[in-house]
Amino acid sequence: MSWTEVADGVFARRYDELDLTTGLVLGQERCLVIDTRGDVDQGAEFAAAVRELTELPWSVVYTHAHFDHAFGTTPFLPCDVWAHPGCLRALLKNGEADKRTWTAHYREEGKPEIADAIERTGPMPPDRLVADRAELDLGGRTVAFVHPGVAHTDHDLLVHIPDADVVFAGDVVEHGPHGFTAYSFGPDDQLDAWAAAMDALLALKPRIVVPGHGDPVDEEFVRTHRDGLLRLHELKTAGASLEEALRDSPYPEDVTRAALGFS
Ligand SMILES: [Zn+2]
Repeated sequence: MSWTEVADGVFARRYDELDLTTGLVLGQERCLVIDTRGDVDQGAEFAAAVRELTELPWSVVYTHAHFDHAFGTTPFLPCDVWAHPGCLRALLKNGEADKRTWTAHYREEGKPEIADAIERTGPMPPDRLVADRAELDLGGRTVAFVHPGVAHTDHDLLVHIPDADVVFAGDVVEHGPHGFTAYSFGPDDQLDAWAAAMDALLALKPRIVVPGHGDPVDEEFVRTHRDGLLRLHELKTAGASLEEALRDSPYPEDVTRAALGFS
């Protein structure tokens, strides 16, 4: 795990576990923590790492409700926690089930310490809701939270730092070898809406896009995968067979299967 300063006072922090990327934006009066990792222990590690860089009071924002982004919050409290209303709904509806699913996953994977930590974790609902767009003044620097429409989930939130031309994209953009993994796609995503959400991201004209997993990327990377999503959407609406889809998809088999709903 390590910090990268992607722009002046804008940091990405990378983790081996799930290839996760979190963020930190420094203002003159406060700082903004972007996502909190997946459990209380991981959140405590992240909070301590932030405290090595700054003593400023913090606010937290969730890019979306998935456990690896939003379950590490209690070590940051008390603070304001920003998210889309759909994120609050998802945490209330699925939080306990997600805890059970991922506890079982990590036990099976032979990582009992992470499973135990998730069991001790109480998902922390956001208290500042952003349906469409909101701004947060950090002192000398204002950041914007932007809901780009349905994408990886129905409640993704982008974090735009206009003075640095940086956007934290959560899982609207994922890096990794193929841009997406089989885990990128889930019950709430809509491929064409997701491509439109990437256009909304590109409209912010970022120089650097920090994905929810993987290293920072540029606009060109986002454009490439917007086009990839549109291709997948075409295959889906044309009712392509698995064989046709695998032949024409720009992505490897596991990603194509997940995106098009082939089991
Ligand atoms: Zn996710």
